[in-house]
Amino acid sequence: MNEPTTVPFLDLKAAYAELASEFDAAYRRVAAGGWYLMGAELEGFEADFAKYCRTRYAAGVGSGLDALVLILRALGIGPGDEVVVPSHTFIATWLAVSEVGARPVPVEPDEQTANLDPAAFDAAITARTAAVIPVHLYGQPADMDAIGRVAAKHGLHVIEDASQAQGARYKGRRVGTFSTAAAFSLNPVKNLGAIGNAGVVVTDDESVADKVRLIRNYGMRVKYHHEVMATNSRLDELNAAFLRIKLRHLDEWNARRRGLAAAYTASLADAADLCLPHVPDWAEPVWHQFVVRHPDREAIKDRLRAAGIETLIHYPVPIHLTPAYREAGWRQGDFPLAERLAAQVLSLPISPHHAESVATAVAREVISACGSASENASGSGTRLVGSRPGGR
Ligand SMILES: *Cc1c(COP(=O)(O)O)cnc(C)c1O
Repeated sequence: MNEPTTVPFLDLKAAYAELASEFDAAYRRVAAGGWYLMGAELEGFEADFAKYCRTRYAAGVGSGLDALVLILRALGIGPGDEVVVPSHTFIATWLAVSEVGARPVPVEPDEQTANLDPAAFDAAITARTAAVIPVHLYGQPADMDAIGRVAAKHGLHVIEDASQAQGARYKGRRVGTFSTAAAFSLNPVKNLGAIGNAGVVVTDDESVADKVRLIRNYGMRVKYHHEVMATNSRLDELNAAFLRIKLRHLDEWNARRRGLAAAYTASLADAADLCLPHVPDWAEPVWHQFVVRHPDREAIKDRLRAAGIETLIHYPVPIHLTPAYREAGWRQGDFPLAERLAAQVLSLPISPHHAESVATAVAREVISACGSASENASGSGTRLVGSRPGGR
């Protein structure tokens, strides 16, 4: 029962090991310096990250969820407002809207990319709509020009949830620059990850940057002079120092992910009934996840587990059907695309610290699992939605 894992989904120890001497030096510098919040390391990281994204401002905060909440608060979005969100995303996108007292209005994704569908966004707009939050899901940019056109037509704010897409480009330009403000999570599993919780807001809007900075630190510009009711959501000095180091390696680490994605794509091209990630020609994804879809996902997951290969599901329960949103009264069938994605997606191991040979080995197992799943479907009457029999 307890097969040893030979391919972990993610190995954060390897990420530390590669940069250990730099991390250890940063730790000694910050710890010995005796100043742990709101100091030079944070300012340095903010300057570096704004430069990397080519935005005027960056403001470090406590988490990705907080980054979204602080943007919404800075824009004055709250009770009575509606905010359009993807039906298929991590729950934080919705929770940020709920936390400020506004109402998340889910819309179905583009079926091929699983990202926000601009036409569905357009159709969901009401007199109460204040903003839209596209998510660059799995590290792949959403169609920002089309989304921006709809938003401009109705005078709405666009807020990017770029938590999974540090460094991704849309039509040659980095994500985070296609909106009033963008939120990045920097939690440990993200492409740019801290050793703990962290997040960052980027924007070209001076007043948004100013308000985020005010609200993240008890509403103070001057110590103990509180201008607004605010919160505590600060990115600490130690993590800011670590993140500065990691940022210097981000493009190279993203390139390694790209190599693995290419290996998966080539090796899995003929797998029966398997739907591979679709990359529009304007997208340069950073492969936060490599997500395939299959009508009998569980068979593949089980097969890989038996072979010692760890997989994850992003995400298994559609948000509108979670107990967290029970009060909103949504039912099975309200968002069929989100429901189908939740039932069919499977994330294969990908990271800067998996060798490309791992991708080919994992792909081999996936292909044989797909073969047996298809045989079951045509032979023994196992229910297998939308499959075509046989095929390799
Ligand atoms: C990780 C993530 C978040 C939340 O980030 P935290 O730092 O964990 O709060 C928000 N949105 C998306 C799409 C994410 O993947």
